[in-house]
Amino acid sequence: MAVARPITIVGGGLAGLVLGIGLRRCDAPVTIWEAGNYPRHRVCGEFISGRGQATLARLGMSELINQSGAATARTAAFFSATRSTAPRPLPSAAICLSRFTLDAALAKHFHELGGELLEGKRFTGDFGEGIVRATGRRMQTEQAGPRWFGLKIHARNVALTADLEMHVSPRGYVGLCKINGGEVNVCGLFRKRDGENGGANDRHELLRGHPGSPLRQRLAKAEFDENSFCAVAGLSLGPQPAASRAEICIGDAITMIPPITGNGMSMAFESAELAMVPLAAWSRGESSWNKARQQIARDCDAAFARRLAWAKWLQRIILAPALQSPLVGLVARSDWLWRMAFERTR
Ligand SMILES: Cc1cc2nc3c(=O)[nH]c(=O)nc-3n(C[C@H](O)[C@H](O)[C@H](O)COP(=O)(O)OP(=O)(O)OC[C@H]3O[C@@H](n4cnc5c(N)ncnc54)[C@H](O)[C@@H]3O)c2cc1C
Repeated sequence: MAVARPITIVGGGLAGLVLGIGLRRCDAPVTIWEAGNYPRHRVCGEFISGRGQATLARLGMSELINQSGAATARTAAFFSATRSTAPRPLPSAAICLSRFTLDAALAKHFHELGGELLEGKRFTGDFGEGIVRATGRRMQTEQAGPRWFGLKIHARNVALTADLEMHVSPRGYVGLCKINGGEVNVCGLFRKRDGENGGANDRHELLRGHPGSPLRQRLAKAEFDENSFCAVAGLSLGPQPAASRAEICIGDAITMIPPITGNGMSMAFESAELAMVPLAAWSRGESSWNKARQQIARDCDAAFARRLAWAKWLQRIILAPALQSPLVGLVARSDWLWRMAFERTR
């Protein structure tokens, strides 16, 4: 029997770990390079929604998620400075689990399946044959439109009116969702202002909302876990097709869907699943690297193009300050509008 060709995955985030788990299930030899260490906090809404939930189930990871104590989100409510909606049922339930727990559980599972995990190791080589890019979001270039940054912190003692609360403001939005361990994840995306220094106080204030806002009231008695605080800047939110990438890419390394959709983790899982069969075939010597790359890119573009296009417009509308309150008013009156926006972006 021919010896299986080894696959290297650069990036041990969600996409890289799920691909590694899937390839180990096909007996492919896999090494993952991860620059950080587990467990670690990540800037993320920690709200898993969309087709990627089925990917996790198909790969036998539902049990692992349940054992991690994930919360289930079934309702959502929306708030602007002047308007709010009552809790609405989510068209499909979401899984809410901290990245601190999720990434570490997936890393452990990959290791148990015989995968080699190089923690605390940054890959600096070339992405040649046999090497998959799962390195996450790409940095925004200087010229490309508004600059965005993300913040997140966990909190206790926060009573939510719905499993997910979305608070929009002229600077961006903050999402609150119940996660494992009885905590609430407080995560926001904000427009960077010229000359803003982004000191620790400013960042905490952004997450707490304007004085008098519904967000500020919700977090009035919150006890924040300062160790969970993290920030990320230079987010590139313009959609890119996978076919434009010269390497085999999965997850945010292809493109980042606007976080307001809560679908980025799902896309990481789905793209990893789409990459499994072509990469396992390459590992067995049944296909060329270039053929695998083309197939993965084609399948990812077919799966994601529509939702990326909807998400781009949705984000523009939701984050346009003048439209926020009318939009929340519309969602309060129209179940159809809310369901349509939810379904088209996943
Ligand atoms: C503000 C905000 C809120 C969000 N909210 C949600 C949400 O509620 N729901 C949702 O589904 N998605 C959300 N997302 C998106 C989600 O976090 C990402 O889509 C998801 O993390 C992508 O997974 P990934 O594996 O592609 O990348 P990552 O999770 O970023 O993993 C990439 C990994 O690669 C490693 N790496 C990078 N370069 C190297 C190198 N050279 N060598 C070794 N390792 C390397 C990094 O250390 C990292 O661990 C949000 C994003 C932001 C910014």
